Amino acid sequence: MEIRSMNELVNSCKREKKAIWEMIIMMEMEKSGMDQHMIVGMMEDRLLKMKEAIENGLTNKSTAPSGISGGDAIKMQEYVNKGKALTGPYVRDAMTFSLSTSESNARMGVIVATPTAGAAGILPGVLFALQKNDGISNKELIKGLFTASALGYVIANRSFISGAAGGCQAEIGSATAMAAGAIVELKGGSPEQAVNATALAMKSLLGLICDPVAGLVEVPCIKRNVIGTSIAFSAADLSLAGIKSRIPCDEVIETMYKVGKNMPRIYKETSLGGLAETETGKRIKEQLYQKL
Ligand code: SF4
Repeated sequence: MEIRSMNELVNSCKREKKAIWEMIIMMEMEKSGMDQHMIVGMMEDRLLKMKEAIENGLTNKSTAPSGISGGDAIKMQEYVNKGKALTGPYVRDAMTFSLSTSESNARMGVIVATPTAGAAGILPGVLFALQKNDGISNKELIKGLFTASALGYVIANRSFISGAAGGCQAEIGSATAMAAGAIVELKGGSPEQAVNATALAMKSLLGLICDPVAGLVEVPCIKRNVIGTSIAFSAADLSLAGIKSRIPCDEVIETMYKVGKNMPRIYKETSLGGLAETETGKRIKEQLYQKL
């Protein structure tokens, strides 16, 4: 069994009467020869690593070795605990957890690339926000990880998932799209609704450039992860409300590919354009080089 498009994924789920997370496990069993228990166990290890990264970020006040990030997850948590957050419980918690994961990444801590290290904060952010607010078990979250991996698998095979290849739309865009679909399945939505949420999320990030200041995956990457969580929840809400993307998901992914192909090299992780080339971006880079 091979899934080459979102359309095929949805049709296979309908034919087999399975959710996306079940389909990808079946596929993995067939490809790897491993049994379900082993595959789920490996995914559980990833989930636990995600949890550790969140916890590390929420207890560690230190800055990253670069000195340009760190401490914001704790600030966000304190703000949330004071009851001041404007966003609802899912989004405010996802923002906090996303910050802590991305800050752990900047401190060279262990994270799970979903789909890359630069975009590693979005999926754990939304999953653990769902766990905190809905009281769902790790077993359920693992299903969400499988859903996200199936969506990421199709995106990776049809387009890009790295900033160097396709701009930030490929990293933050793909991660946000994967997270949106995972939220939908965890909330009881159909495979079709999950794929629709993937399209809605990806559409909103098309064209996003990759422009890390000083070549480090910190500025603007960390905050893009944080805001990606709110887009994921918005896309999931739209889809669960029955609102459809006018452009089918496979065509959105194809568009991401074409935009990435046509994107100038200065916007593909070279740090030659965008925010990396602002006065402040250049000053940060100079200061970092002087320290070396
Ligand atoms: S700006 Fe580039 S390095 Fe940073 S998250 Fe986006 S794609 Fe990754």
